Amino acid sequence: MLTKIILHANKEKSLLRHHPWVFSRAIDKIEGTAQAGDIVQVYDHKHIYLATGVYNPKSQISIRVLSFEQEQKLDYNFIKNKLIQAQAKRKFLIDQGNNGYRLVASEGDFMPGLIIDVFNNYLVISISSYAMEIFYEDIIKALSELYSSYNIYERSDTSSRQKEGLAPRCGIIKGNAPVSPMYVLENNSVEIAVDIENGHKTGGYLDQRHSRHYLMHLCQNKHVLNCFSYTGGFGLYALKGKALSVTNVDVSKHALDLAKKAVAHNHLDPGRCKFLAQDVFNFLREEVAKDHKYDVIILDPPKFIKGAMDLKKGCRGYQDINRLAFMLLNQGGHLLTFSCSGLMDINLFQKIVFDASLEAKVNAQLVTTLRQDQDHLVALNCPESFYLKGLHVTI
Ligand code: SAH
Repeated sequence: MLTKIILHANKEKSLLRHHPWVFSRAIDKIEGTAQAGDIVQVYDHKHIYLATGVYNPKSQISIRVLSFEQEQKLDYNFIKNKLIQAQAKRKFLIDQGNNGYRLVASEGDFMPGLIIDVFNNYLVISISSYAMEIFYEDIIKALSELYSSYNIYERSDTSSRQKEGLAPRCGIIKGNAPVSPMYVLENNSVEIAVDIENGHKTGGYLDQRHSRHYLMHLCQNKHVLNCFSYTGGFGLYALKGKALSVTNVDVSKHALDLAKKAVAHNHLDPGRCKFLAQDVFNFLREEVAKDHKYDVIILDPPKFIKGAMDLKKGCRGYQDINRLAFMLLNQGGHLLTFSCSGLMDINLFQKIVFDASLEAKVNAQLVTTLRQDQDHLVALNCPESFYLKGLHVTI
């Protein structure tokens, strides 16, 4: 018998709409005992069944829901079927000449706290919740069965894992240690540098695949500034799109070293690139002071808003970099600006970018909106899984 968790009156609404998170404040009582990692059933205050999930009292999200069907067994087959479904949904992208893709996108694939990225013949898994931690053995077994010739590497070292009370765990699970850099073909077009062992997150950012390709067509004979470049993905497409110059700026020297190697690997012209290991905020201010100008600017910063507490400060950060970017843009220039903060919605982001344009005294027009690429699925029951928003604006 699974432990029953009873919610306060009126706290069942989000579960009735299949949102997968139950916050501690919604819980009235626990019938029996529940420890971190226990599978529990959630009931409303009238004791009507709502959902089944995994309990973790250490997390703000006390229960992560895995099923809304009382009879559903949460076992090996449950996990394996989810992985099979996830793979089938990505087929169309692989067919378009992509050797890297997100196989499992956490809540986006109804597996809260599990990310699996595929880079060539490497599966990189990252577990950031108890809800998925308890299925660790099942996940590895299912992956080994479904992808028998693949190597498996673990990068469970996120800060959200720490918040769940789980110790970091990284290393090779199956096969050989990955080489660095590893190159992953995107859009049949460019090979992006990935560092599975020492890079950010799982080693590389696949979510910008579409927007990087989109950028390529804006760059012919242009001077391009790629801020928060990481391993220079946007910069490679800019070069491929015949940019006159590409300035990559990132605080990580290691990422820039990989970016440099990727330029050579893709047979692009290193003479047209700069790699600056600098804080982007300082760099942009210095460029404004020098009255430098660019035709195309990319702003792809890390998450400025990690929790509701950071909202105001984070918004100010977005506004600052966007204002400075507008000040550096030539008339007729293009700005591709992004926010990967799940708590920032696209309308608020557009307002912030507009405010930034007012401060910079330019008239900006929206060309189109951009978003995380298609393998980073957004589950409609969990709007937070739509985390990466972008705007292409021109002045
Ligand atoms: N655009 C990249 C992904 C960017 S991820 C791509 O297409 O792959 C965010 C990057 O911002 C990281 O590489 C991180 O090192 C860098 N970063 C974070 N804070 C920074 C700062 N203040 N100044 C410069 N770079 C920063």
